Amino acid sequence: MANLILILGDQLSPNLSALNDADPDKDLIVMAEVRDEASYANHHKKKLVFIFSAMRHFARELESQGWHVIYQAYHPGNAAQSLEQVVRHVAREHQPERVITTECGEWRLHQQICQWHKSLGLPVEIRTDTRFLCTKAAFAHWAEGKKQLRMEFFYREMRRKTGLLMTEDARPEGGDWNYDANNRKKWNGQPSAPPPFLVEPDDITRNVIDLVNEHFPDHFGTTGDFCYAVTADQARQALAHFIDVALPGFGDYQDAMSDNEDWLFHSVLSPYLNTGLLDPLEVCDAAARAWYSGQAPLNAVEGFIRQIIGWREFVRGIYWLLMPDYAHENRLNNTRDLPWFYWTGETRMRCMHRAIDATHRNAYAHHIQRLMVTGNFALLAGVRPEAICDWYLAVYLDAFDWVELPNTLGMVMHADGGYLGSKPYAASGKYIQRMSDHCQNCHYRVQETTSERACPFNSLYWHFLDRHRDAFAANPRMTMMYRNWDRQKPEKQEALLARAQWLLDNLDQL
Ligand SMILES: Cc1cc2nc3c(=O)[nH]c(=O)nc-3n(C[C@H](O)[C@H](O)[C@H](O)COP(=O)(O)OP(=O)(O)OC[C@H]3O[C@@H](n4cnc5c(N)ncnc54)[C@H](O)[C@@H]3O)c2cc1C
Ligand code: SF4
Repeated sequence: MANLILILGDQLSPNLSALNDADPDKDLIVMAEVRDEASYANHHKKKLVFIFSAMRHFARELESQGWHVIYQAYHPGNAAQSLEQVVRHVAREHQPERVITTECGEWRLHQQICQWHKSLGLPVEIRTDTRFLCTKAAFAHWAEGKKQLRMEFFYREMRRKTGLLMTEDARPEGGDWNYDANNRKKWNGQPSAPPPFLVEPDDITRNVIDLVNEHFPDHFGTTGDFCYAVTADQARQALAHFIDVALPGFGDYQDAMSDNEDWLFHSVLSPYLNTGLLDPLEVCDAAARAWYSGQAPLNAVEGFIRQIIGWREFVRGIYWLLMPDYAHENRLNNTRDLPWFYWTGETRMRCMHRAIDATHRNAYAHHIQRLMVTGNFALLAGVRPEAICDWYLAVYLDAFDWVELPNTLGMVMHADGGYLGSKPYAASGKYIQRMSDHCQNCHYRVQETTSERACPFNSLYWHFLDRHRDAFAANPRMTMMYRNWDRQKPEKQEALLARAQWLLDNLDQL
C-alpha cells in the first residue's frame, strides 16, 4: 500500500529524509499552501511569495522526476486551510498505509503533527531532519552536564566533525579557530559594494505575486522588485555569485553598516539554506575552496563558515533543547509594547529608519542591523520579548521559529539569561557611529546625551544599565561599563535618566 509523504515549505530538498526509500510508482507526495501557516504571523509579502513560489517549483521538479504530487495551491475558498485538514482529505481519498514526514522547524507545528496519529487514525512517521550537521539528540548529548553552553566550543566540535578548514593533523588552518578580531572594519565606500544577485521572476513567481497581492494585502512589506532565487539551481548561482564577488570582503566588513547600501558583503543565502534549496555543507565547502585557491582571505572564509556550522547549528540546538519553556522566558521582566515605527519605518532615528525601510522593501536586513540597531533599540527600550520576536518572525524572508527565536529572545533581548552571549549586546549611539555613516544624516546628534536632539540610544543605554544593575553588575564583562556609569556626576546621571524616561514615555514620537 502507498505511503503519503508530507513535504513542508521549508523542506525543499531532494535528499529530504521523508523521501528516503520512497517509491515514486506507489507513494504520494502532498504539499499545500494553507491559510493557517501563511497567516499565523504577519509574514512579509515577499516571504509568502518566496515560499509559495519555491514550493511550486519544487513540486514541479518532483513531478518531472516521476513523483505523483498532490499540490494544494492557496485559495481562500479551499475547504482545507490547515495542514492536518489537507492530509486528512488526501488520506480519505487515497487510503495510505501511513503518513511520513520530516520533523518540522517549529515547536507549534511539531506538537500538532505529533498528535496526528490520533486525530487521523493513521500511523504518522516523523523522521529526523538530516539536513543539519548536528541532530537534536547529538546537541542534547553535547550539552549534557555542561555548566555553560558556549557557541565557540560547539563550533570547534563542528570544525573537527566536518574537517572544514582543518589541517591534516587536526589543527585549525592558520593556527587560530577564530579571526573575528580582523572583522570589525567600518566601510567607507571602498572596495565598492558588490551588486546583489537578482533573478527575474518567471510565470510561476508572477502568478504567486498576484495571489499574494490579492489575498494578503494587509501583510507587512511589498512584493515589488521581487528578485530572489526560487529553485535550487538559482540558489546555487546565488552561492557562486557570493563566492566570486562578496566573500573576499565578507570578513573585513561583516559588522559594517551603510546608509545607502542594503546588502554590503553579506551572502543573502539564509532563505535558501533555511528552506533546503541549499545544503549547509555544500555552501561551506564552496567557501573553503575559495580560501584554498587564494580567492578569499582566511578571516572572511572562517568567519562565514562559523556563522553556518557554528551559530546556525548552535541556535537550532538551543531551540530544541529548551522549548517550549524557552519561548516564554523574560528574565529582564520587560513589559513595553513594540513601538509602532517598527511597522512603518517612520522615525527620525536614521539608523532605525534605514534598517526598517530595507526590511520593508527586501524582507532582509543584515545581521548587524538586526542585532545592533533594531534589536539593540528593543533591548534598551525594554520591549516585551514576545512582541519583538513576533516582529522578527514576520518581517524576514529567512525567519523560521527555530532560528528566529533564539536569535531574538536570546541574542538580542538576553531574556534567556545568556545562552547566546555572556553579556547583553547593549550599545550606545557611539557603536552605530563607529560602524556606519548613518549618524551624519540623522536628525539626532550622536555626540549629545541629554539635549532635546541627543541620540536616543545614548541615554537609553545608561538607563538600561542602571535599571538592570542587579542582573549585570557582577558580570566581569560589564565591570567597566558600571565603572563608567558610577564615575559620572550625580547631576549628569539624573539628567541622563530623566532624558531616557522621557524617551521611554514618548517612543512613538521618536
Ligand atoms: C534578532 C535577530 C533575528 C534573526 N533572525 C534570523 C532568522 O529568522 N533566520 C535566520 O536565518 N537568521 C536569523 N538571524 C541571524 C542572521 O542575522 C541572519 O542569518 C543573516 O542576517 C542572514 O543574512 P545572510 O544570509 O546575508 O547572512 P551572512 O551574513 O552572509 O551569514 C552567512 C550565513 O550564516 C548563517 N548565520 C549567520 N548568523 C547567524 C545566526 N546568528 N543564527 C543563525 N544563522 C546565522 C545564515 O545562514 C547566513 O546565511 C537573526 C539575527 C538576529 C540578531
Ligand atoms: S544619531 Fe543615534 S539615532 Fe541617529 S543614526 Fe546615529 S545612532 Fe542612530
